[in-house]
Amino acid sequence: MNDLSSIQAVRGMHDIAGDRMEQLVRMESFARDLFFLYAYQEIRTPHLESLVLFERALGQTTDIVEKEMFVLKDRGERLLVLRPEGTAGIVRSYIENDLDKKSVIAKFFYMGSMYRAERPQAGRLREFNQIGSEYFGNNAPSADAETIELACKLLETIGIQNVQVQLNSIGCSECRPNYQRVLLDFLMKFKDQLCSDCIKRMDRNPLRALDCKIDRDKLEAAPSSLDTLCLACKDHHLELEAFLKMISLEYKIVPHLVRGLDYYNRTVFEIYSPGKDGSQDALAAGGRYDTLTQQLGGALVPAVGFAMGVERVLNLLEQTKASQSETKKREGVFLIALGKETFAKSFQTLNFLRSKGFKTNSLLNHQSLKSQMRFADGLGARFCLIIGEDEIKNDQVTLKDLEQKSQTLIPSSMLLQELAKIQ
Ligand SMILES: [Zn+2]
Ligand SMILES: [Zn+2]
Repeated sequence: MNDLSSIQAVRGMHDIAGDRMEQLVRMESFARDLFFLYAYQEIRTPHLESLVLFERALGQTTDIVEKEMFVLKDRGERLLVLRPEGTAGIVRSYIENDLDKKSVIAKFFYMGSMYRAERPQAGRLREFNQIGSEYFGNNAPSADAETIELACKLLETIGIQNVQVQLNSIGCSECRPNYQRVLLDFLMKFKDQLCSDCIKRMDRNPLRALDCKIDRDKLEAAPSSLDTLCLACKDHHLELEAFLKMISLEYKIVPHLVRGLDYYNRTVFEIYSPGKDGSQDALAAGGRYDTLTQQLGGALVPAVGFAMGVERVLNLLEQTKASQSETKKREGVFLIALGKETFAKSFQTLNFLRSKGFKTNSLLNHQSLKSQMRFADGLGARFCLIIGEDEIKNDQVTLKDLEQKSQTLIPSSMLLQELAKIQ
């Protein structure tokens, strides 16, 4: 079929434009400033990575790897994946650049699209944006504390106040088997009542059952991972708590918080907006992943990171009154040229203003003054600069201030001065 009129965006994928795009750019710019303050460097990794990277990094039994990845083949029949998350690619890059060999301390931040082949539904997109950080080479609990504080600060800077931090420790490869055993014993008691996914999880990865939305109520009494921590993990967790208390960062210990990815150890956390109603997704989440570099073929380098869901935050900002009542400031100049004879001179003026740093727009066509004024108003321009034949003859311009609703005829040579008064 060649019906071009029916071409639409792919289901679950969205254009970002208009006010929402402006919000996104603002958010990214706040994030950049903040990350630089914490001495993080920006990194961009490819959107396409090899399938095996995510299988090894996220774990074969995770929901993402089992059913949520966009997998495709290149012409050489190699299996590629549109990245479902940001961490695996950055760890790959860290190893590929030999930073792991010297256990280099490196702090990266990233922003960009991630992809999940999920069934599109409210709040779930197939392409979505994340902003996140990864901190390599520091196993001290202060790095966890910095990451959690940074994530909260980012949300706060963007305009979300009083966020709630949920915190847990899931132990390490030494002590987690103990927890898995205790948890499995507990799950066995409910075996007949659990959903089919959880039955599978019991064999392969019992911790995953704690993420189950269907069996949530039954699992409320499940044992806490904090009770089976080894001494080193316990110390790490207590030190982290001490750091958070030191900066008065409020958090809540949630003993069943495990996160849906296999690479985490010790610290895991999620951050919610105030008034969380249970069905809501976390705005940001993260944790420590001290063995991921080794899992991906590098040396053992401790690391900790977080990622924030950009669309979730944008949706929340749109819901809050503060961002809605914010009236947009008028800015820039809209040049209206009246009559073909004025176009060349106007085009020169247009270029001149832009070269002097003034945001300037113009149509240079034959639309009426009235219709161009309406257009300028709709664009939110601060000034209309009107150039007609009389103005050119007398080397003058008419400057109309759309905010003050005033109009003056000034010599062309005064134009920059007049605009600079306001800008
Ligand atoms: Zn441990
Ligand atoms: Zn279940």
